[in-house]
Amino acid sequence: MKTRLTLAAALALTTALPAVPALAEVNVYSYRQPELIQPLVDAFTAETGIEVNIAFLNKGLTERLLAEGKRTPADVILTADIQHLTDAVAAGVTQAIASDVLDAQVPAAFRDTAGHWFGLTSRARIVYASKQRVAEGEVTTYEDLADPKWQGRICTRSGMHAYNTTLTAAMLAHHGPEATKSWLEGLKANLAQKPQGNDRAQVKSIWAGECDISLGNTYYMGKMLEDEEQRAWADAVRIAFPVFEGGGTHVNISGVAMTAHAKNADDALAFMEYLTSPAAQGIYAAANYEYPVSPEVAASQVVASWGSFTPDTLSLPTLASERGAALKLTQEVDFDG
Ligand code: FE
Repeated sequence: MKTRLTLAAALALTTALPAVPALAEVNVYSYRQPELIQPLVDAFTAETGIEVNIAFLNKGLTERLLAEGKRTPADVILTADIQHLTDAVAAGVTQAIASDVLDAQVPAAFRDTAGHWFGLTSRARIVYASKQRVAEGEVTTYEDLADPKWQGRICTRSGMHAYNTTLTAAMLAHHGPEATKSWLEGLKANLAQKPQGNDRAQVKSIWAGECDISLGNTYYMGKMLEDEEQRAWADAVRIAFPVFEGGGTHVNISGVAMTAHAKNADDALAFMEYLTSPAAQGIYAAANYEYPVSPEVAASQVVASWGSFTPDTLSLPTLASERGAALKLTQEVDFDG
């Protein structure tokens, strides 16, 4: 409903200014799915008149920016995790932004001290547990997922996916390489099937009786509930918030950065500031079922109904710094094999 109203407002704006071509624009390379970004883009364009063009990428965002160099059309990148943000920064394809608005709207824990990246939303990486076959309270810690009691009962997407390597990076930061390697081996030994598909596909597998628990991000519960076919999958599971021994629940962010060679820097900054504004943070909360980074905006009622949790204590830069080692360990144990 929100999207429709916004679209109507955008149309009204366009028809009111028939002779004026849209000159102001922002070009975005996005790892985030178009369906998640469109409501925000529509609202931004309706408010500012600035057009937003989005190229959705599955992979190779940083490589593409490197290859395009100064000729890149991209002003802004959107990612669904901290890893791809810090990869881009390390490759030198982003630029530092000094913005009082961004600094005020994004808490320090969710942005780069040097101003290269800014968190937009947070999400917990949790366990989807079968309502029928897993008792409430049975899911306890991430470490426990390697316990043989879960043998043949766990589903997950690829261990190489950024969502999982960042979780493994957290395990590394908490317990070191040896414990993390045996955790990965134990988790692999407990899998019901080879890692495949996305987070929602794992929940479908639980619904189909192929496994009992899966790893997934919180917002997918909301997206599944919205979808006629997927609602049954969502209804088959409840969200359990595991914790690290000596820590809390693993949290990752979606975020934004400006490219090093942005041609529309002013409009890009306006877009970045908009995405962190209370209005946009409200859209993220309501339409995307994510946790806003803005302390002024509450999670939606649906999201709140899943329960509260204590976020893990590790900083985002710590997670990013361990993820190369995490990826190596994942390959070493041939997690997907
Ligand atoms: Fe996602």
